Amino acid sequence: MFWADIIAKNLVGKGPHLVDDAKTPSGRVHVGALRGVLIHDFVHKALLEQGEKSRYTYIIDDFDPMDGLPVYLDQEKFKKFMGVPLSKIPAPEGEGTYSEYYARDFQEVFNGLGANPEILWSSKLYQEGKLDEAIKIALDKAEKIQSIYHEVSGSEKVKGWLPFQPVCPNCGKIGTTLATAWDGQEVTFTCEKDMVTWAQGCSYSGKISPFGGNGKLPWKVEWPATWFYLGVTVEGAGKDHSSKGGSRDVANHIIKEVYHQDPPADVAYEHILFGGRKMSSSKGLGSSARAVYEILPPEVLRFLFARVPYQRAINFDPSEPSTIPDLFDEFDRGQKAYFSKENPDLAKTWQVSQIGEVKEEFNLRFNLLKELMVNLKSEEEIFAEAEKLKSSSLSSIDKEAIKLRIKYVKIWLEKFGQTQEQKEEVSLSEKQKQLLKLVSTELPETTSAEEIQNYIYNKGKALGLTPKEAFQAVYVALLGKSQGPQAGSLVLSLGLEEAKKKFSSYD
Ligand SMILES: [Zn+2]
Repeated sequence: MFWADIIAKNLVGKGPHLVDDAKTPSGRVHVGALRGVLIHDFVHKALLEQGEKSRYTYIIDDFDPMDGLPVYLDQEKFKKFMGVPLSKIPAPEGEGTYSEYYARDFQEVFNGLGANPEILWSSKLYQEGKLDEAIKIALDKAEKIQSIYHEVSGSEKVKGWLPFQPVCPNCGKIGTTLATAWDGQEVTFTCEKDMVTWAQGCSYSGKISPFGGNGKLPWKVEWPATWFYLGVTVEGAGKDHSSKGGSRDVANHIIKEVYHQDPPADVAYEHILFGGRKMSSSKGLGSSARAVYEILPPEVLRFLFARVPYQRAINFDPSEPSTIPDLFDEFDRGQKAYFSKENPDLAKTWQVSQIGEVKEEFNLRFNLLKELMVNLKSEEEIFAEAEKLKSSSLSSIDKEAIKLRIKYVKIWLEKFGQTQEQKEEVSLSEKQKQLLKLVSTELPETTSAEEIQNYIYNKGKALGLTPKEAFQAVYVALLGKSQGPQAGSLVLSLGLEEAKKKFSSYD
């Protein structure tokens, strides 16, 4: 049985359900958070399929302080924002806030993968007073919360500690404030100079109402407070949060003993290890959700997350030569299983990976397509090959599917293809370089391979190059080796613009 169906089965009859997940948008979002979004999406959809009512929310924790500076940021420009809520920091570029900038990018990725939770911004939940009741309860029961922290996680808070951090009205920071008294209306607080190492407070002290967005709960209290407000019934998190005495444990005690509700069902999931050192350094492919989204079709990426049960780590290294081709093969077997009604588990895994309408399509294996493309077969030749294998003509659905796969094989060849075939070191003569410059600026717009072939031949001749020398320059610039197929078709297969770009950058 598909793992999300098992989770849902245990929740049948306990609804209506609210499945929730959350993320602090402190920078580019890591692919690990994508696993969270998709696990919750699979569970939410499994609940619906089993006839339960279910709602799926995703909280962007944008009221959290900036507590670290990602290396890709302008450090000088952003260090003054350390300690300030992410929702009050300007975006690194363009309009809007820092948190919107990164959260929207992440949202675009998971929406593209067919996960469409309702987005809630924690800064807005606070501002609109949605968490006021939970804040009042937490402040009234501050001692109880303190003893839960102590008993569950062993952490000691100073006497009189309150589970609340105001935004300092003087310096705007939220990461530096310490509340020390609560009179039922206002909290007394100080903006501490040295409470945290990553930000410095301004020493302001005063009184402020804790409601309506004037501050926030610490996250181990905020977590159960949002469960209380929303009525969350299912929320998982990375396994490291779910250890005994960990933040989940503390939150579970608080929801029971302070808010008098049952904790949501947990789905404590394992990590995804994305790529080896080799890939991130030499290929410039980071481990952000966006980076992995760009190298796989959405359905195949969904499949990657669906096929590994949440309790198991995913070790995904796309720079390994067989990783991506194998994933496509497994995906194709999933389609076959679905339509032939064999291997129900694999069939279900494939089915939940589909976005929109489920279609049966004929496609070529990734490795075969790769072979054909390395040998510079045209789209028409690839279709002809596919028709031979299918033993009938291709439908328009088949052709679309093959075209899409061609796109991702191209990406694969560009990003990872050369790990198997080292570039030869070939140096070009001055005249050959001159030829490339000439071709890069003067090659006429044409779709005729013959015309391109002749153009290169004639220009080479005019420069005093032999045909062999002229075409060698083209191969070196485009393929990194001294030999290749007919130069005209090679240029066309890459696209004129792309080929010209490569010619002009060669030196
Ligand atoms: Zn301050």
